[in-house]
Amino acid sequence: MELIPTTRFLASRESANDSRVILFGLPFDGTTSFRPGARFGPAATREASDGLETWCPVMNRDLEEVAFSDVGDMPLPPGDTAGAIAKIYQMAQQVHVNGQIPAAIGGEHLLSFPLVRAAHERFSDLVVIQFDAHMDLRNNYLGVKLSHACVMRRISEIVDPSRILQVGQRSGTREEYQLAEPFENPRSTMISAELLQQWVGDRPLYVTVDLDVLDPSVLPGTGTPEPGGVSFSRLQSWIAGLASCKWIGWDVVELAPNLDPSSVSSIVSAKIVRTMLLASTATPC
Ligand code: MN
Ligand code: MN
Repeated sequence: MELIPTTRFLASRESANDSRVILFGLPFDGTTSFRPGARFGPAATREASDGLETWCPVMNRDLEEVAFSDVGDMPLPPGDTAGAIAKIYQMAQQVHVNGQIPAAIGGEHLLSFPLVRAAHERFSDLVVIQFDAHMDLRNNYLGVKLSHACVMRRISEIVDPSRILQVGQRSGTREEYQLAEPFENPRSTMISAELLQQWVGDRPLYVTVDLDVLDPSVLPGTGTPEPGGVSFSRLQSWIAGLASCKWIGWDVVELAPNLDPSSVSSIVSAKIVRTMLLASTATPC
C-alpha cells in the first residue's frame, strides 16, 4: 500500500519489518456530524509527540524499547467514505497477515469499522472495548449508515454485542440506550481497570479510543465534546490496566486540533497514543 510519508511519531523505528506495531494516520473526517477537523488529528498528534518524554512512569517502560514503526498517512480522498473504508480494511488485513498489530491515529470514529472488521476476520473470538462519550449505536445518521455516529452499530453487526464493552458513555438517544440495555455493559465513567482486565481475560482484544471520552476540560479539541467526562489519569489507568491482555489492534480517534488554539488537546492525544503503544506491547510476543 502506498502511504504518504510524514514526520514520524516519537521514537518510531525506521524499518517496519521487525516492528510489532504498525502505526499509521487516517486523515479523514468526511462523516463528522458537528464540527469537522479530525482529518488534522494525525499530523497534530505526531507533532505534539515530539515534546513528550519516551519514558512513562505509569507503565514503567520506555517507548524506545517498543518495536513499532510509524509508516505515514493513508491517502484518503475527501468525500469518498466507501473508498476510505475499503482502503483501510485492506491495509489492516495486510498488517495482520504479517503478524503485526495495526494501530491507527484518526481521523473520525467511523474508520474503526474496517479496522475491527479485519481484526475480527483473523480472530473470531475478538472482544472490543470502546472508550467514548457516545454510544455510536444509531442505525443511521440523517439517513447515512456509514457515519461516525453509527460506528458501533456497524461493528455490532459483525462482532456479537456480548463481546463489545462500552465504557465512559454519557450521551445518546433513547433508542440507543434501549438498544444497549440487553448487553451486560457498565458504560460507567467509574469502572475500575481491574474489572476491564477481568472482562477481557485471555481473549484477543481490540481497543478503540474516541478521545471525547475525556472531559472537555481535558480535551476541548474534538468535534462533539460532551461534558461529564473522565480525567486523563483515569483513561490512562484503564489503558495501562489492559497491558497484560492480548492486543490485536487499536485506534485513537476524533482529535480535531483546529478546535483547540492552546494545542493541549494534541499533547493529550500524543500521550494517549504513547500509552497505547506501551500497553499493546507489554506482553512477550
Ligand atoms: Mn464520541
Ligand atoms: Mn465515537
